[in-house]
Amino acid sequence: MMLYNHLFEDGILQPMPENVEGLRSLSSAVGHFICPSGSGSLVKYFLKKADCEILFGHKVTKITSSNEKWETSCENGTSHTFDAVVLTIPVPQILQLDGLMPHLESNHLEKLKAVKYCSRYAVGFFYDNEPTFFKDIPWCAKFIDDDIIRYCAIDVHKRKGTGLPSIVFHTSKEFGSSYIDESANVVQDLIVKHIEQLFPKIPKPTEIKFHKWRYSQVEQKYCGEQACLVVSKKPLLIFGGDGFSNSNFENCALSAENITEKIVGLVS
Ligand SMILES: Cc1cc2nc3c(=O)[nH]c(=O)nc-3n(C[C@H](O)[C@H](O)[C@H](O)COP(=O)(O)OP(=O)(O)OC[C@H]3O[C@@H](n4cnc5c(N)ncnc54)[C@H](O)[C@@H]3O)c2cc1C
Repeated sequence: MMLYNHLFEDGILQPMPENVEGLRSLSSAVGHFICPSGSGSLVKYFLKKADCEILFGHKVTKITSSNEKWETSCENGTSHTFDAVVLTIPVPQILQLDGLMPHLESNHLEKLKAVKYCSRYAVGFFYDNEPTFFKDIPWCAKFIDDDIIRYCAIDVHKRKGTGLPSIVFHTSKEFGSSYIDESANVVQDLIVKHIEQLFPKIPKPTEIKFHKWRYSQVEQKYCGEQACLVVSKKPLLIFGGDGFSNSNFENCALSAENITEKIVGLVS
């Protein structure tokens, strides 16, 4: 709860408005909250507290060990040496890294291969004026019982803010799994046409943004006792993130706590 208190005090989280239709409460959830400055602000909050050097745009493609250190090679041609490495990338993408296989025990590998994610698409409609259409809608977000669209949210209503309206739609897991390898244009057209059928009076947006998550939320997490996996103690290599806990904030925080305990215990 202390973590939440800090996040409330610093304005990173605020309670989610109550006008959400079709919301199911998870038994593990403390409550439902929103980030008024966007979910990226939550990540930035923790990175700022860590006060360390952060390299963005470094996609790791290879990881090897020598002299009790890990060396990571990145797509941009750079390489870096570390005493300890923590990977919190989707588990199927961990398994695609070059050089890791010799370090994985076979029972860990089996359990890593069993981790499954659903796939989803998101489409955002953005407006450069304030269509009255949105003022008349009583909900800020809605879970929909539909083959293609599962969720939509009106951002200004959700943040109880002022500003230009935008609305985001997330697709269902079933649609994601059937269309994940289709071309982006085809899928976007299909989703937009379907939105127009579901909301015949929705105004034409000024801009549309489209996003694909091949690895969206975890459906089958890593089967272990803790929300992380220590792969090697010397040099230290730990896997963590939602693939080892579950896809919500509490479980991500739990994984981070478990990882920290391991680092403190094994390095000191
Ligand atoms: C559509 C959707 C809706 C969601 N809604 C909610 C919600 O309402 N509430 C909630 O609590 N949770 C929600 N979640 C879940 C939440 O977003 C995740 O559980 C959380 O982001 C997982 O954090 P993570 O750090 O484990 O992994 P991620 O957030 O997936 O971060 C992994 C990072 O690793 C990077 N990466 C991948 N490969 C490499 C590489 N080779 N080298 C370097 N970097 C790499 C990626 O770019 C990414 O930034 C939602 C998720 C989705 C997809």
